[in-house]
Amino acid sequence: MENGEDCCVKVAMHIRPLIGDERLQGCKDCVTVVPGKPQVQIGTHSFTFDHVYGGTGSPSYDMFEECVAPLVDGLFQGYNATVLAYGQTGSGKTYTMGTGCKDGSQIGLIPQVMNALFCKIETLKNQAEFQLRVSFIEILKEEVRDLLDGSSASKLEAINGHAGKLTVPGKPPVQIREASNGVITLSGSTEIFVNTQKEMAACLEQGSLNRATGSTNMNNQSSRSHAIFTITLEQMHKLGPVTTGSVQIDDMNEDYLCAKLHLVDLAGSERAKRTGSDGLRFKEGVHINKGLLALGNVISALGDEKKRKEGSHVPYRDSKLTRLLQDSLGGNSRTVMIACISPADINAEETLNTLKYANRAR
Ligand code: ADP
Ligand code: MG
Repeated sequence: MENGEDCCVKVAMHIRPLIGDERLQGCKDCVTVVPGKPQVQIGTHSFTFDHVYGGTGSPSYDMFEECVAPLVDGLFQGYNATVLAYGQTGSGKTYTMGTGCKDGSQIGLIPQVMNALFCKIETLKNQAEFQLRVSFIEILKEEVRDLLDGSSASKLEAINGHAGKLTVPGKPPVQIREASNGVITLSGSTEIFVNTQKEMAACLEQGSLNRATGSTNMNNQSSRSHAIFTITLEQMHKLGPVTTGSVQIDDMNEDYLCAKLHLVDLAGSERAKRTGSDGLRFKEGVHINKGLLALGNVISALGDEKKRKEGSHVPYRDSKLTRLLQDSLGGNSRTVMIACISPADINAEETLNTLKYANRAR
């Protein structure tokens, strides 16, 4: 299938190295990357993606520069965007996104986004006024939970002195709303105005600590929820021509622009039975699969140019996850899926599932 430059969903593969546990079990590396090509082989199967990053180290500078930096730039032009980390539990989603809370030394994609964002604002501050807000929620069992609730917001205020709260979280569950212009908003979740990179990092850290985790057979730290860190950038241009280097950023001919970037650490993609789920856990597993299933269907409908031209239905409404991301998936928005895989032979079946899911997204 052709995957032109204008395809709205880019897919990258992130192969982590064998980790301690896998080495102890004597696992073998069963994933091969074709040299010089974004192509991955497992057994007799071969898949080509937009990018393949592999082996060692934290998410590389290249991954950020090639996959995510263009989305950050797009925010300044008013384009919404979504970065999705997909994969089985233990494949490196949290490590890749930087939504973990145990290892502060690693640099995931979200900290790199913050860096790029604040650098860019610094260079543009004479031309426009900027306002940044963040929210951090998770979807568990088709329910939206605020990860920056009152207590954490006030803790943040205590840390930073002046991080302002926009919405005071109430007891009622967070609701996803769609305005008549198609803009999706959350009601009942906390949004925090941030002025500095440090304040934004504190929100990420606080929400990560609040994130629900449940233990499964595969990984005690595993999470069965989708965690969504959202950065909203509002800008008001000052009078006069607005340029960023040679690129005009006011080519939409508007003084005010607002765009958001969703950074999503998806729930583990493994099948419920594999993790020994039962009772309550199984129910969660089923619902998580619902979100991932709906996401797969939406992305595949978006990527299918023939269907898109026929104006066929994109099934956003099938899950909370896709409803929430609706105005930031497809249309003018940019989407990158980073599919994370383990190279270990014991994970071969799930790895193949991930490769197939990601392949369908292209
Ligand atoms: P997930 O969020 O998909 O469940 P994690 O991000 O928690 O997976 O990663 C599982 C384990 O693998 C962690 O111990 C993490 O530190 C390690 N890991 C993940 N990706 C990498 C990588 N690229 N390099 C080194 N270690 C990694
Ligand atoms: Mg994780």
